[in-house]
Amino acid sequence: MQYTSTRGRESVRSTQAILNGLAPDGGLYVPCVFPEGFDSLSLIGLPFEEMAARIFTLFLDDFDGIPALVSRAYRNKFDCADITPLKKVGKRYVLELFHGPTCAFKDVALSALPVLMTAAMRQEGAAKEIMILTATSGDTGKAAMEGFKDVPGIRITVFYPAGGVSPVQEKQMTSQAGKNVCVAAVKGNFDDAQSAVKEIFAKGLPDGSGTVLSSANSINIGRLVPQIVYYFKAYSDLVMSGEIAAGDPVDFTVPTGNFGDILAGYFAKRIGLPVEKLICASNANHVLTDFFRTGVYDRNRPFYKTTSPSMDILISSNLERLLYLLGGEDPAQVKALMESLKKDGSFAVPPALLRRLQETFPAGFADDAAAAGAIRAVWEKHGYLMDPHTAVAWSVAESLPDPGRPSVILSTASPYKFPAAVLEALGQKAADDPFDLMGQLSSFTGTPVPKPLASLKTAPVRFSDVVGRENLYEYVVSLTEGND
Ligand SMILES: *Cc1c(COP(=O)(O)O)cnc(C)c1O
Repeated sequence: MQYTSTRGRESVRSTQAILNGLAPDGGLYVPCVFPEGFDSLSLIGLPFEEMAARIFTLFLDDFDGIPALVSRAYRNKFDCADITPLKKVGKRYVLELFHGPTCAFKDVALSALPVLMTAAMRQEGAAKEIMILTATSGDTGKAAMEGFKDVPGIRITVFYPAGGVSPVQEKQMTSQAGKNVCVAAVKGNFDDAQSAVKEIFAKGLPDGSGTVLSSANSINIGRLVPQIVYYFKAYSDLVMSGEIAAGDPVDFTVPTGNFGDILAGYFAKRIGLPVEKLICASNANHVLTDFFRTGVYDRNRPFYKTTSPSMDILISSNLERLLYLLGGEDPAQVKALMESLKKDGSFAVPPALLRRLQETFPAGFADDAAAAGAIRAVWEKHGYLMDPHTAVAWSVAESLPDPGRPSVILSTASPYKFPAAVLEALGQKAADDPFDLMGQLSSFTGTPVPKPLASLKTAPVRFSDVVGRENLYEYVVSLTEGND
């Protein structure tokens, strides 16, 4: 399958799109044409790995030996055999995406990306070492380092906003093992870190460098494709457990930041999965809610640090792909919108495009108080423990009129990644040490601390650099020197 940039007309193979990450013109890769006539219901009842192989084959057809790649990506990395289990909670369903090595949904994609990238390097005959540069709002960084650690030919550097991630998230990153990993805090928020990284991509490394840059952020198509799989898995589970009949429409509510997770749901819909609505849930940084309601995207607003930090984002990168796909696949239009965003911090889409967006994407937001209320209510009513990101989605789903269709909530993190916020929501006074909080949450709820988090308290810190955003480029160059 060929991929084209949202801002230009040149197309590349899927192997090249994954190696490049971002298109050379600054746009994001999208399929030139979506597969036609795919029988989406034929996946019902298949095991996760087989479903993944079928979907990878559809979108990444230049790759050789996909079943083996899928197997390498997922075998023995998740704490449950079906990778992304679906739980019934009251009248809704919760799709648990946090059973991987770092307890966040990013593991689903970042278990596959290193395997895909290594295969692409081999097939494309890449001569240089790859340096993965990643800005993280908290979860991507850890999941990416875990996926890429000690992968030959690849190094990875992660930047997170100083003071902008939870203590558990920070310790997960600063204690990361692996010879080829590096992590540093950036002075600023996530948007600052992400923009600085994008500027490094635009500038490129100095001539003669033995290293090329690539991205593990959700702008990489290799992140997006693996995320399509769990929409199919959830749908299949609903059919197999008799909750729906094959072909019945289903809604998904997605706690959204960079718009990667929810966009994968749209890709699933485009190839025929009976997805009716994809509900875009935001926290107090509700730039997307306002956009889907009015057609005006405006990042000129206060930035809030919330209890759902992985969604504290005002520049939602993957929205660009949706604007391209629903806006008549017009790269000139996308380019103009993105230039306006860069220059003025805002853009407005034409009314016809807004109507098409609204057909599929209802939107809403929940502030910290609403999310905390949902955590407590769902725990007290159903004995089910949610993290604050999942709670944002739950709360937004509750705030909309009942559509009379099954409602699946995507659960993107383990509650143990955010124990202070969860304990507080449950009316408990939280301990001072963030790592004692996990034990406290466990004794209060009678649920186990996930294994990868239990050992964090005593894990040694390996990385402590704090970099100003104006120094990021030199920092990266210095890491790649001595590499030819
Ligand atoms: C990254 C993340 C999100 C947001 O996902 P996007 O694909 O960026 O929209 C939501 N919740 C958690 C826990 C995350 O780590």
